[in-house]
Amino acid sequence: MKGKSFFVDLTLCTACRGCQVACKQWKNLPAEKTRNVGSHQNPQDLSAKTIRLVRFNESRSDDGKFSWNFFPEQCRHCIEPPCRYIANLYAPEAVVQDAETGAVVMTDKAILKTARRRVNLEPWQLCPYNVPRMDEETGLWNKCDMCVDRVKAGMKPSCVLSCPSGTMNFGDRKEMLSLAEKRLAEVRKTRPDAYLADPEEVRVIYLCDAPAENYHDTLLAKRGEKGRILAAAQKQAVRIASTGGQEKHSRRDFLTGKLGLGSRKA
Ligand code: SF4
Ligand code: SF4
Ligand code: SF4
Repeated sequence: MKGKSFFVDLTLCTACRGCQVACKQWKNLPAEKTRNVGSHQNPQDLSAKTIRLVRFNESRSDDGKFSWNFFPEQCRHCIEPPCRYIANLYAPEAVVQDAETGAVVMTDKAILKTARRRVNLEPWQLCPYNVPRMDEETGLWNKCDMCVDRVKAGMKPSCVLSCPSGTMNFGDRKEMLSLAEKRLAEVRKTRPDAYLADPEEVRVIYLCDAPAENYHDTLLAKRGEKGRILAAAQKQAVRIASTGGQEKHSRRDFLTGKLGLGSRKA
């Protein structure tokens, strides 16, 4: 498969948050007012202004040993992105996929609305990883765009360049998959339960050495969530058509695959 991918080796992450700051810096996103809620994680969630977040989860093993499970979270750049199907129903070209890199990009058209009003969807309704966020003031949705401007100019994404520990890697997909498999084999020598998170589905491949439940609950896509989102997209497109919304698609369009949904796996 062509395009680019990230390989994120969670066994090396020190949660320094250099990547989080570098992301804000490159994307020119402002700081947010936060408060201490008893965790080093800051801020507490992704937002339209914080599109990359290092999550801190604590866990305790059966023998009482405490550990941190750090998870630098960003858009996974899904190979078949559900957000594209849903968002583009409300705003054509709200989400585009770059053919060369595979980057999934939310554009300045990503204000989701019907003919009459803005639609305030929950992130889970667009994305099985709960990633994109809407700016409450402008209505514009935002998320990581793979630093596609940098990548096309021959540079690494800002978060990758800033990472001092070797956690963040970026390159051709084939190369990243092979690096991920190589590191997985190494890590499994001492931690046999290590695994890669959804490697066939996404372009951001995490190597994990703790059970998924020990990380934040968006490490893996919710089971069946992608199929549910696509089914909702089909229903919603028919509803928009019947109410004279922006995009006029008929049930026949879906059945004949005119929207590109019919030929894709759920
Ligand atoms: S810069 Fe690297 S080591 Fe630091 S938090 Fe980000 S991924 Fe982890
Ligand atoms: S690729 Fe760019 S936009 Fe995406 S998380 Fe990294 S720095 Fe932020
Ligand atoms: S992770 Fe979510 S926002 Fe990113 S491409 Fe996949 S569906 Fe879209």
